[in-house]
Amino acid sequence: MRYYSLNQQAPTVDFKAATIAGQAPDGGLYFPERIPKFSPELLHNFRTMARAEVAYEVIRPYVSDTIPEDVLRGICAETVDFEFPLVPVTNRIAALELFHGPTLAFKDVGARFMSRCLGYFSRQQTAPVTVLVATSGDTGGAVADGFLGVEGVEVVILYPSGKVSPLQELQLTTLGQNITALEVRGNFDDCQRLVKQAFLDPRVTEHRQLTSANSINVARWLPQQFYYCYALQQWAHETPPVVAVPSGNFGNICAGLMAHASGLPIGHFVAACNANSAVADYLRTGVFEARPAVVTLSNAMDVGNPSNFGRILELFEQRHADVSRMVSGAIVSDEETTATIKRVHQETGYLLDPHGAVALRALEQYLSENPTEHGIFLETAHPVKFPEVVEPVIGAEVPVPTAVRGLLTRTKQSVLLEPDYKALQEFLLQ
Ligand SMILES: *Cc1c(COP(=O)(O)O)cnc(C)c1O
Repeated sequence: MRYYSLNQQAPTVDFKAATIAGQAPDGGLYFPERIPKFSPELLHNFRTMARAEVAYEVIRPYVSDTIPEDVLRGICAETVDFEFPLVPVTNRIAALELFHGPTLAFKDVGARFMSRCLGYFSRQQTAPVTVLVATSGDTGGAVADGFLGVEGVEVVILYPSGKVSPLQELQLTTLGQNITALEVRGNFDDCQRLVKQAFLDPRVTEHRQLTSANSINVARWLPQQFYYCYALQQWAHETPPVVAVPSGNFGNICAGLMAHASGLPIGHFVAACNANSAVADYLRTGVFEARPAVVTLSNAMDVGNPSNFGRILELFEQRHADVSRMVSGAIVSDEETTATIKRVHQETGYLLDPHGAVALRALEQYLSENPTEHGIFLETAHPVKFPEVVEPVIGAEVPVPTAVRGLLTRTKQSVLLEPDYKALQEFLLQ
C-alpha cells in the first residue's frame, strides 16, 4: 500500500515512511491509494474471531510488507488486550465503551498501535525519533502510556498549565523514562502553535527526527477501524446500526467510514459535535468554513478546523451529496450535554462522560426521526476523567477505577515553559 499527500505536492510513500514522517513534506495528510475490501471470509466469520485476529486482518493491507507477519500479529495482540463492551443503555441505544484501556480513553488503541510500529521501525534505523505532541488532555496520556519504555523513541508532550484535569495531568507527568512533559504557561492553541513551528524549523529537524502522534499520523488513525468491527461483533439486530461518534478532529469517525467503505455493514453515521460545528454545518449546507475553537464541556472535541475533514472529503471524492447521505451532523450544546448526563443517569443508571453525552443526545435526535432504527454511540472516555463536569450534575462522586488509583500517589514531574517558540526550540536543541 502506498500513501499520497492530500496536497498532491509530495511523493507517495509506504506505511513505514508515512508513520515516521507523520505529515507529508508538503504539509498534507497521507491517504491510502486504495481502500482494501474486507474479504468475504472475514465478514462471514468475524463474529467468532478473536479481537487480535480481526485487528490483524483489518490493518494488514495498510501495513503491507513494512512489518513482518509475526511482528504485526504481536503488535495487534498487545494493542487490543482489553475489552470493548457494547452495553445496552435503552432498548434502542447501546454504548460501545472505548475507555477500558490503560488511560481510560479511546485514544489508547491508536497510541498503542502507533508506538509499537514506530518502536519496530526505529530498531532498524540508527537515529532516534522524537514524538512531539500537543495535548488538551486525553491524547497526551494515551501517547505517554503507549510509548513508555519504547527504545529509540523519545516523547515530548506539551500541555496547557492548569487546563487539564488533575487525573489527566498525573497521566502525563508521572511516567518519567523516555517521556517528558512540558507544562506551557498558555492554552492549548499555544501548545499546538509551538509544535507546528517546531516541525517547520530546520534547525530542530536537522537535529532530531520529529514525528507527530495525533490522528494526522496514519498509524494512529487507521487502527481506529477496529472499534467499529468490535461493535458489529456484538450487534444482535438484523439491520445494520446507526453509529454516533463524538467528533473533534474527525479521525475516529473517518476511520469508521473507511471500515464501512471496506464492506463493514453500518447503516448510517452521526457526527456528534459540540458548539464547534464546522463539519455539522458543512453536512447541512455543503459549505465548509473553519473557525476558531470555542471552549465547551466536551473539551477533547474543541476543534475549529478538524484536520481529518480533508480525508472524509477524499473518501467521498469531494461529493457533498454522497457524504451527507452517509453522515448526518448534529450539534449539542453544553446545556443539553449536562441535561443528558443527568437524565440518562436518573432513568437508566448509566453514567456518561461529556463526550459520550454529546454522542448519545445526537443519536437520540436521529433515531426520533428514524423510528425503525437502532443505534450505537461511542463512549470515548471514562466519566472519572471529567469529575468537574459530571459530579455536580449527578450530585455524587465518581469512584476512581482501580486501573488508575495508583496514579494518585505519584509525583508530578514537568518542565515549565513560556508560550514562546524560543523556549521550545532551546529545549529541543539540547
Ligand atoms: C479525542 C477525543 C474525541 C474526538 O475524537 P476525534 O477523532 O478527534 O474526532 C472524542 N472524545 C474524547 C474523549 C477524545 O479524547
